[in-house]
Amino acid sequence: MTATAISLRGVSKHFGPVRAVDELDLEIADGEFFSMLGPSGSGKTTVLRLIAGFEDPTAGTILLGEDDVTRRPAFARDVNTVFQDYAIFPHMTVLQNVEYGLRVKKVAKAERRQRATEALETVRLGGYGERRPHQLSGGQRQRVALARALVNRPKVLLLDEPLGALDLKLRREMQIELKEIQREVGITFVFVTHDQEEALTMSDRIAVFNEGRIEQLATPVELYDQPASAFVAGFVGTSNLLHGEAARQVVGEDGTFVIRPEKVGLGPESQDVPADAAGLCVAPGVVREVVYLGASTSTVVELDAGPTMTVSHPNTDTTIDAALERREQRVVLTWRRDHLVRLAEPVATEKETA
Ligand code: ADP
Ligand code: MG
Repeated sequence: MTATAISLRGVSKHFGPVRAVDELDLEIADGEFFSMLGPSGSGKTTVLRLIAGFEDPTAGTILLGEDDVTRRPAFARDVNTVFQDYAIFPHMTVLQNVEYGLRVKKVAKAERRQRATEALETVRLGGYGERRPHQLSGGQRQRVALARALVNRPKVLLLDEPLGALDLKLRREMQIELKEIQREVGITFVFVTHDQEEALTMSDRIAVFNEGRIEQLATPVELYDQPASAFVAGFVGTSNLLHGEAARQVVGEDGTFVIRPEKVGLGPESQDVPADAAGLCVAPGVVREVVYLGASTSTVVELDAGPTMTVSHPNTDTTIDAALERREQRVVLTWRRDHLVRLAEPVATEKETA
């Protein structure tokens, strides 16, 4: 069994009437790449700050490894934090920046030099040590910030939306690199993001946050294929929700169901629906919108049964003209019954209030 790096037991943090974190139980394993995903204001940063020791919990216990650190000050916890607005000193070289923390801790010069050089190599900045921060790109500066944390060899690294300031292309590259670096160094990473794609790309496990609580804690694949609630289904990827009368008509059952856009076939109204109709859901409707996205096309269909559904298909054989021609056409959507996910119901929009 893997050891536990971080445990939160019944942890709450209230700011006046705001329950930023609400009775949270959470265990993060040693060496795990663990992400906290959720909309703005859902409590992610507060959880990181509680782990780091920058906030005191209103209730509950925090352990690092076996040690209860609930009352331990931040500087005495074996964790480091990397923020989005990384503070690197403009008047120091890259190497001096990375060495800085070790200098403060009075680590001898030769060891300092060696560890800082190693940390720069780990973040793919070997050879950049003598540069000044203004001679680096945004992505490189973010790597310096990462090296500054890694040089301390913490057991746990906390990262609060560290890629948020980078443009999309660079962010994608850094996602892959950061994951590689984490594997190499083997440090437990706790990564906060509001970007579902980022979380799905990088994480071993993801906790989806909503209003200070965890809606679901699972692997990326489980979150996508088996969302536990409408909130998770809507937040992680695009999803179509069928419930009430529409579910009765289209699925033939009562309940709340999720179907992903890429699982839904789209054909002309005149098509022959396959003989194996028992294993299929069939829903006629009208195309209301076509969004051509280069690699794929998203089509919004208003079902005769009521709701609208978004379907998504790669443009392997589809031209933009063929896609756009479907506007306002009648079509039939089909999907496999076993691709439907039934949600535990009813979908509560409001939590029980104590
Ligand atoms: P996230 O990082 O998911 O965006 P936060 O943890 O920053 O969320 O915030 C969670 C909630 O707690 C929000 O409603 C926020 O306004 C509130 N909050 C966070 N820090 C403070 C603070 N220092 N004082 C008062 N309210 C705060
Ligand atoms: Mg935040």
